[in-house]
Amino acid sequence: MKQINSILIANRGEIASRVIRTCRKMGIKSIAVFSEADRNAPFVEQADVAVFIGESTPAQSYLDQDKIIATAKKTGADAIHPGYGFLSENVGFTQRCDKEGIIFIGPNANAIDAMGSKSKAKNLMIQHKVPVVPGYQGSDQSVELLTKEAIKIGFPVLLKATAGGGGKGMRIVHEAKGIEKAIQAAKRESMSAFGDDELIIEKYISSGRHIEFQIFGDQHGNAIHVLERECSIQRRYQKVIEESPSPIMNETLRAKMGAAAVNAAKALSYDNAGTVEFIYDDKSGDFYFLEVNTRLQVEHPVTEEVTGLDLVQMQIESAQGLPLSISQSDIKGSGYAIEVRLYAEDTANDFLPVTGTIQRFEYPDVEGLRVETAIRSESKISIFYDPMIAKIIVHDATRSSAHRKMQYVLRNLVCQGITTNQDFLLHILENKDFQAGLYDTHFIKNKLDLNAIAQKSEESKTFAGIAATLHGWNQREQKRTILKAIPSGWRNNFNDAQFEDFQFGEQEMKVQYRFNKGSFEFYVGEQTYPVKLVGADDTSIRAEIDGMQYQFNITKNGNNYYVHNENIGSVTLAQKERFPMKEAEKVAGGYNAPMPSQIIKVLVKEGDAVKSGDGLVIISSMKMENTIEAAEDGVVEEIYATEGSNVEAGFLLLKMKA
Ligand code: ADP
Repeated sequence: MKQINSILIANRGEIASRVIRTCRKMGIKSIAVFSEADRNAPFVEQADVAVFIGESTPAQSYLDQDKIIATAKKTGADAIHPGYGFLSENVGFTQRCDKEGIIFIGPNANAIDAMGSKSKAKNLMIQHKVPVVPGYQGSDQSVELLTKEAIKIGFPVLLKATAGGGGKGMRIVHEAKGIEKAIQAAKRESMSAFGDDELIIEKYISSGRHIEFQIFGDQHGNAIHVLERECSIQRRYQKVIEESPSPIMNETLRAKMGAAAVNAAKALSYDNAGTVEFIYDDKSGDFYFLEVNTRLQVEHPVTEEVTGLDLVQMQIESAQGLPLSISQSDIKGSGYAIEVRLYAEDTANDFLPVTGTIQRFEYPDVEGLRVETAIRSESKISIFYDPMIAKIIVHDATRSSAHRKMQYVLRNLVCQGITTNQDFLLHILENKDFQAGLYDTHFIKNKLDLNAIAQKSEESKTFAGIAATLHGWNQREQKRTILKAIPSGWRNNFNDAQFEDFQFGEQEMKVQYRFNKGSFEFYVGEQTYPVKLVGADDTSIRAEIDGMQYQFNITKNGNNYYVHNENIGSVTLAQKERFPMKEAEKVAGGYNAPMPSQIIKVLVKEGDAVKSGDGLVIISSMKMENTIEAAEDGVVEEIYATEGSNVEAGFLLLKMKA
């Protein structure tokens, strides 16, 4: 046994933070490596040591084995934790660590190697009597033979790139017609994506559930399973929600699948954390091995929550050569856990990732809630990495009570500034079939109307419009109070309705209002809403609309308002340019009216020398007076403003020369 005193984490984001947490708990020094894009990331701050390793492109940093090994040596790291993704399942890297005398926190290189190819993996499992999906996984890869095999299996079939992974390199073929072409195309795709064109063919399970078992092994030949996770809620073959126990699980099935998972672990002399994935055929009740992920899984917190185990600690202990401290009979699940993955992606646009800055990220303080994230307000989602913002995990006594809590969290979580799948996740949680556990891997595609989720009700938009208008009003009011430029009480005889124009995508909305004796009256469409502003600060508004109080979280960025409230969810609206800049703006030394206004007083004459900050013209707009001041020293060249006249926004008031 070799004690680990320091660990280099060859990863980033939430998983780096997660590993650092356990390091600290165990008194192990954590060493982070970071790229250009991650210089200010929370995980870099959290680590005991942080080392810059290169450009943002993964190949130049998190995937650069030379740099990572060199950094481990320089910092004297005893071990490397690879997290998931990046180098976590790279046999060459594991072997290099071994050679350099650095402990790789993961299974032995042979186990990773055996699972690196879908055909090798399947053949090994067949030898060890682990049920696999009926299909072909041979070495003869001629199109003729593959075609014959596909027909023998019976349609629909699934063509999989042997070297594929992460949901990539799969193609469903529904009928014999065109199978040859499909095989050729799949081979070409696989060659270009993975540099290898070997395929396996499987019977396509049309109503399948993805159920996986956490496994654990040590270097002394022990292997156990640590219960299952149900991961059927997927889009693009990628998980978005995971739960444990699976809603279809019973003790008999768990014993059978668990035994198969342990068999798979034994077949690999597995000696660390891993996951055996199965596809469960809803129609027949049969289950089949899909693959072993030879790393810590994204969704590991679900298992930690139901078992109370720290899987990262167990990984470190196994890597030190310690025997497993628990046996199969010690593993007891308690309650129920669910994880949802909050992504920066556009549900209405085929879940394409989006990039941008998260202006604000806040979640409610709820018992039993665990949030794994590397995001804080002002964090960027860049093009370089996975667009996952956070993993939100809830643990509670029962499935329905945990679901209720998760809905509450999703309604109250504030993530503004970027398009996310927050509403989409909530929509799934609210779905009756999901709640009943009636779903398969096609649930999202077959059961949800994705366009409808992106749509907001008229009432939601109206409320968002009112909240944004109040926020803008309050901001102006704050400024006015601070500047004390205008005598108070100006609003009392304020009778004209004010307005704001907003845009929701293509749709326009006019919000009109009157403010009188401390109360507002809003007019949107045909409706009138009595409104009181109860409280406000820079990022929130508390308003009483028609007698009901609501809290709105508001972030403004440029012309965009991001409005969030537990009832309306997250609504983005753009304020239409009220005072579009006119050509006159571009006149050198020109001073323009910033908004449609009345000229109250011209304070200077042509030829006057003025100093920066001197008043030039007093204008009045919306009953507010403003003084246009000189931005720099100069001489007044020409004056166009005449007292008492009304001018448009952008009207050139006067020109100065230096
Ligand atoms: P990857 O290595 O790309 O993750 P997997 O073999 O683990 O590929 O499969 C990913 C997902 O594809 C599974 O979770 C399941 O939803 C679906 N899938 C895989 N094999 C089959 C199959 N034979 N029939 C139906 N769906 C399948």
